[in-house]
Amino acid sequence: MTPLALPIRPIPYLDESPASLLIRAAENNGFVSVLQLLSAYRFPSQSDEWLIASFVDQTRFSKIIHAMGLHKNCISLAYRRMGPTSKSPREMNGIGLAERLFRNGANVYCPECLKEHPYWRKAWSILPSAACNKHSIRLLQDCPSCKQPLSVTRNRLLYCPCGHDLRQAKAEMVNPNATQWWSSLIAARDQEALDQMLLFWSALREVDGLGDGTAAEGWRLNTTMNWCRGDQCIDEVLEVIEPRSPYIHPRLQLLPFLREKGDLCDFAKQVLKRHSPFVFATPPRQHEGQLSQEEAAAALGITSWQVRKIIKAGQIKFITAHLGRAKLISPNEIERVLRQLSETQQNERSHQRLSGRHSLTGIIKNILAGYARTDGYDLNPPKLTKLQQGLAGTLLSIKDQKLGWRA
Ligand SMILES: [Zn+2]
Ligand SMILES: [Zn+2]
Repeated sequence: MTPLALPIRPIPYLDESPASLLIRAAENNGFVSVLQLLSAYRFPSQSDEWLIASFVDQTRFSKIIHAMGLHKNCISLAYRRMGPTSKSPREMNGIGLAERLFRNGANVYCPECLKEHPYWRKAWSILPSAACNKHSIRLLQDCPSCKQPLSVTRNRLLYCPCGHDLRQAKAEMVNPNATQWWSSLIAARDQEALDQMLLFWSALREVDGLGDGTAAEGWRLNTTMNWCRGDQCIDEVLEVIEPRSPYIHPRLQLLPFLREKGDLCDFAKQVLKRHSPFVFATPPRQHEGQLSQEEAAAALGITSWQVRKIIKAGQIKFITAHLGRAKLISPNEIERVLRQLSETQQNERSHQRLSGRHSLTGIIKNILAGYARTDGYDLNPPKLTKLQQGLAGTLLSIKDQKLGWRA
């Protein structure tokens, strides 16, 4: 027997999040959770996954809406994908936003907006939004009383299970300029400006490691806005990376910028130039993950071709990927080489003039021994000695031989 339509059917708000509508449906009809509501209509209800996937799948969401007898206008609350795969961007106001920009669920909110109209706004689901444009307060995250995240399958929209009324929460007053700027980019449907801005924002997010809390997001969005408007923003980034540099080489920290071309890479180089001197801590922090040869090259400031040669010469250990033959490199290896480069830069040994007769392996040995300069250890470049000027000339001639040193 087909289950009957819900006796009490919520009317959707135009900018309501799909999670919000289903929580209201569960609440109005006495279900203990959204999962129990799904189960009553024989939809998968073992975990949140199927439910969350339905928010970005209008076909699946329309089946839920139809089964429960909700108005067909509810279907448009689910996001559309602007492409065929689950990695395709979500459509928001006619523009595409990458999947990583979304907060799933109903856990970030403005208490003042909830007081005015009791539903979750879609705008709160997008990661760079950190403030309420209307009330100039920082968006809240989690229950302010018990500090627990607010579940996407809860059965009371405005209350935490601990009993706290979310509308009564106090939020900090903040300048909403950056969030307004972000909203205006979306409203203008300027995909190109948005993509540009998001390149910087994404790299900064990887570098700062401050997480996705709304306080960190406010700082990140503000820094991104200032950079897009022509400010240098070097001090802001130095403040984040300098305390970590004794443990993680600044070039590895700035890799998300260095591996990009053009403005972002130039930005990282400016930050490196202004970095204060520091002493390496021992032992270095152990890094996780693996780098591609291109990333290793960007971190060291040399070309991928040179990285392959260094690997061949046995001076960097590599990891063979499970599938395919790509050689991946542990960031710990890059940290080791960068430290070696930085330390040998400071020693007073006389520099050996390179000649075109040197094999590449020989040149790399020279770099590692501190005889030749690369982009990899230019934190506080000393004035070039006569010998180094000669060396620079030699490196230029090597460049002519397609060895491709980066300036
Ligand atoms: Zn508000
Ligand atoms: Zn609570």
